[in-house]
Amino acid sequence: MNKRIILVLTIVFALSGCSFRSEIVRVPDGGLYNQSVTFNNARYISILRFCDYYNLDWDWDLVSQRIEIKKDASSVVLRPDSDLALVNNKSVKLDNPIEYKEGVAYIPVTTAIFVSEDIFGLKRPTPTKKTYQIKTIVIDPGHGGKNIGAVGKYGTKEKDIVLDISKRLKRNLEKQGLTVYLTRDRDKPVSLYKRTAFANGKNADLFISVHANASRYSRARGFEVYYLSEATNDNARALAAAENASLNFEEEIAGQDEASPPANPTAWDLLLSEHRRESKELAYYIYNMTADNLDMKKRGVKGARFVVLKGAIMPAVLIEVGFLTNRREESKLRRTSFRGKIADLLSCSILAYKKEYERTDGWSR
Ligand SMILES: [Zn+2]
Repeated sequence: MNKRIILVLTIVFALSGCSFRSEIVRVPDGGLYNQSVTFNNARYISILRFCDYYNLDWDWDLVSQRIEIKKDASSVVLRPDSDLALVNNKSVKLDNPIEYKEGVAYIPVTTAIFVSEDIFGLKRPTPTKKTYQIKTIVIDPGHGGKNIGAVGKYGTKEKDIVLDISKRLKRNLEKQGLTVYLTRDRDKPVSLYKRTAFANGKNADLFISVHANASRYSRARGFEVYYLSEATNDNARALAAAENASLNFEEEIAGQDEASPPANPTAWDLLLSEHRRESKELAYYIYNMTADNLDMKKRGVKGARFVVLKGAIMPAVLIEVGFLTNRREESKLRRTSFRGKIADLLSCSILAYKKEYERTDGWSR
């Protein structure tokens, strides 16, 4: 843009009281930039949405918090809260800093256009309707190996119960035409980080972790579903701490496990927050359809910080199918017919979620 135009625009916007500058002139049509948000009078879009839209390669360096976007031989390195970028290894000052808000990193619209068009030479794509579909599901039976999880009075182990339910759920969903993977299909240890890394590698559309509960109080009973967020109450916090304790077992298998814990948890938040709404929605579908038909106490849908959900870049929930420390629920969970019923209800609720998600284009209408 030449200097005279900038001067004219500056005067026009100064007179109109509009604080935006060049992006007003150059904002393209289409879904991507309609989703912009405003910080400090500048318009921003989520970096993940931007990369997704233009089909760009991206990479988070978890240690240094660098966000690298690549296309062929060109690369742009951005950093949350910084207005300095590395464009093909040369330092460039941006109009506005990269913003990091509530777990999402945002790029200024001006920078997004500069990167996509001037650096990567991409044409503005004519907006095509994104197809919202759920095709691939990863089911994660909790625990495994030495990490047995909760144990009941009759000696029932969480790792066995949840593996059986997960296998049944897999078969049910496959019959409906879905592609389903298990993070483990036998009694073996799998690290929490590897579970979500596996789901990400399979490009899964949903991640469903299956667990059974435990409590110091033998009377505690019921069905509950979690999505990742700050803990909504003390019980949720305590449960997250107990399930996250699986991390201690993982140190023992660290040698065979290259998927190490993230050095900087913020980067995981960054990825996950994109899907918090869908995760919560999925949690309610599962909770409402399953608990009512199981004749179990409804303990609620809750948010908690589960490490196993953290690395997933798709909607992710954790289901606690009942308390092994409650004699009645342990007896129920020992019964093949009851585990089959849980798997049937879970698959029905997942299919109902899928149907509504696809009908509403991912809850957008
Ligand atoms: Zn568990």
